[in-house]
Amino acid sequence: VWHNCLQVIKDNIGEQSYKTWFEPITPLSLAGNVLTIQVPSQFFYEWLEEHYVGLLKKVVFQELGSEGRLEYSIIVDQGNDHSKPQTVNIPTKKVPAAVANSYSPERSFLKNPFESKAIDRHFFNSQLNQSYTFENYIEGDCNRLARSAGYAVANKPGTTSFNPLMVYGGVGLGKTHLVQAIGNHIKSNNPDKFVLYVSSEKFVNQFIESLKTNSVQDFANFYLLVDILIIDDVQFLSGKEKTQEMFFHIFNHLHQSGKQIVMTSDCPPRDLKGLEERLLSRFKWGLTADLQSPDFETRMAIIQKKMQSDGIHIPDNVIEYLAYSVDTNVRELEGVLISLIAQSSLNRKEIDLELAKAALKHIIEDVETEVNLDFIQKTVAEYFQVSLDSLKAKTRKKEIVTARQVAMYFAKEYTSHSLKSIGYHFGGRDHSTVIHSVQTVSDLIDTDKKFKASIQELQKKFKVKAV
Ligand code: ADP
Ligand code: MG
Repeated sequence: VWHNCLQVIKDNIGEQSYKTWFEPITPLSLAGNVLTIQVPSQFFYEWLEEHYVGLLKKVVFQELGSEGRLEYSIIVDQGNDHSKPQTVNIPTKKVPAAVANSYSPERSFLKNPFESKAIDRHFFNSQLNQSYTFENYIEGDCNRLARSAGYAVANKPGTTSFNPLMVYGGVGLGKTHLVQAIGNHIKSNNPDKFVLYVSSEKFVNQFIESLKTNSVQDFANFYLLVDILIIDDVQFLSGKEKTQEMFFHIFNHLHQSGKQIVMTSDCPPRDLKGLEERLLSRFKWGLTADLQSPDFETRMAIIQKKMQSDGIHIPDNVIEYLAYSVDTNVRELEGVLISLIAQSSLNRKEIDLELAKAALKHIIEDVETEVNLDFIQKTVAEYFQVSLDSLKAKTRKKEIVTARQVAMYFAKEYTSHSLKSIGYHFGGRDHSTVIHSVQTVSDLIDTDKKFKASIQELQKKFKVKAV
């Protein structure tokens, strides 16, 4: 009977799917109108139920009539000691072919004993980089929520409400570092937990490979053994439907059995185009936390920490200079540090401001090493969101007048231009206008707290360049 069923199935699905999902099935018995088949794992059973129930219904009906039923027997590995995996047939849930898809989520995952033999916990490679730890992950406003959620998860994997934990943020902001820190922390506290770090790209490639080599089941079984699954850059799954389907199943299984899932993405889940809705909705079960660009203080702290761990001394003013100049992301900041250290050792020179400026010039094109009038005008105009031309124009609009006065103030403070020359560069104004502007700004600094704060913020940009 089963043989006949297989013939029909074979004609209805692709060869690959047939080999993967139907060849491993063993027919066990036929009692009356109940056909029992043995499948290698719980996962396998669910996959069949989800993907092939219609087909199975059809063939059972054809072979056994409307009263026909299909039952599954699932090979189980009992107990946690891996010394001798036993094969037992659990009393199968009666699965009438007509009523599908009602597996109970509380039933624990049952794994294929042949698989578990191959994967010994002691040889399990977590794929973690041990240098990514919480200790060297600098905390700042930019990462506070993500970091503390990550820390909570690391201490109580699978039992906090942060499951899954989804960390998102732009490139080089510390996603990989943070999630690997979680993995390392868990591993050091619970050496026999299966922690697995995998990039989504690798996940996809492994899955494709398993399709090619007819080992999808091994692939699935492997992931179902994991206690803590860390999957990096899930945006990479977008558009890859088959892989998403597989991930969805793995996700559900792990989640149901209280296993922790940690994910990263380069954008918030709502912007993950090409990801299935049902998958996205799973992501929302837990906590989503973002990483922002580090602020100045955090950048300072990161540089200090790196230098300290490398045993290299850098003068404070250089650290400050770097932290001001490189405000994009941490990876870039590290790149600058590495290049700085390289140049210092190549040229046998101490790291000082001069060397830092030179090093930075190589890397970042638009770094200006000296505060000149142009730079002041450009920076102030940008800050007040007025056009550069308007600073030199006749207009007397209030916000432009303010910006113009501030720019003149800084020109007086940070350049060696005479009052006359400054006036000249601001649309041919005379020196008394410059004096008046400088005075107005000084007064405002004394009386207006908000204004003072703006000036200080601008000052930071100039001070560093002016040293
Ligand atoms: P992403 O995965 O978001 O692209 P990474 O985790 O690879 O970023 O981080 C880039 C580099 O910056 C890594 O070397 C990492 O150690 C470092 N880094 C990022 N954030 C921090 C931080 N808060 N403290 C210390 N180092 C950090
Ligand atoms: Mg990364």
